[in-house]
Amino acid sequence: MKKKGLEILLRYKSYSRATQSFNKITEEEFKLAKEEGFMFDKIMLSHNQSVDWLIEARKKVKKTHVTSCFISSLLSNRLDWRCGLSAYVLSMHYPHHSYTYEPSNELSTCSVCGEYVLNDFEEIDLSFYNSSRFRNGIAICGNEVQASLLAFCLEQHSQIPEFMPSQADIKVFKGIIEVISQAKFTDTPNDLEKSLAAKKLFKSNHWQRRHFLETLGFCNILEHPKARGYTANFVPPNKRYKNDHLSEWDYPIRLWRGQYGINQKAIGYWFGEFF
Ligand SMILES: [Zn+2]
Repeated sequence: MKKKGLEILLRYKSYSRATQSFNKITEEEFKLAKEEGFMFDKIMLSHNQSVDWLIEARKKVKKTHVTSCFISSLLSNRLDWRCGLSAYVLSMHYPHHSYTYEPSNELSTCSVCGEYVLNDFEEIDLSFYNSSRFRNGIAICGNEVQASLLAFCLEQHSQIPEFMPSQADIKVFKGIIEVISQAKFTDTPNDLEKSLAAKKLFKSNHWQRRHFLETLGFCNILEHPKARGYTANFVPPNKRYKNDHLSEWDYPIRLWRGQYGINQKAIGYWFGEFF
């Protein structure tokens, strides 16, 4: 992988503690990173164009390709490989629809997908999407599922060669599942993240471990009996089970507790071929 373009991408719009501001890059740096395929010109898309893009992009990626890359991302620390699974599962049952205004909703969100729509056409910063993909390994930004972000991540993923994870990667993945299976009855997602940090099974920071676990939530592996993942249904924000518990974690893992354990059927569906 060409390192200069990636280094520029990872700096793009990242926060610098030293200067207490968001990093900027020069025109020259943008040009270089664009030539190497890491950065892109901004585009304008409507809600409906983003949805159409996603419906096409999801045809290009197979389940085994995202699960293989997800496991292979552990020892390689390739967050871009990890990102494909979240994009895939969130897209699986994403409905092909037009923007639907909900009069009762004070925010201009689409009542079908929950996406916030302020203007007919929005400027889409694909470079920022790619920086998030390489930094965080997850295709979600905040609590909102964005069709253009999913489409971009799937399209990028379709360009990764297909391969199988190594036995060493599979061993690390099994180690993670083992750590989760030892969770105490009252453990929260935060406790899980701390347990993984203590075990040091794979190179990661707090946010990367958190996004890894959130992806297992999307895949129904870590869920709540009433707050299920996206494997069988798309779950827009207005259809999500809510309780009084506030959490910054994504849905549905935000409602997971140790007492709900691991959904073995979901593990089998997503990762059965590697066990
Ligand atoms: Zn929508």
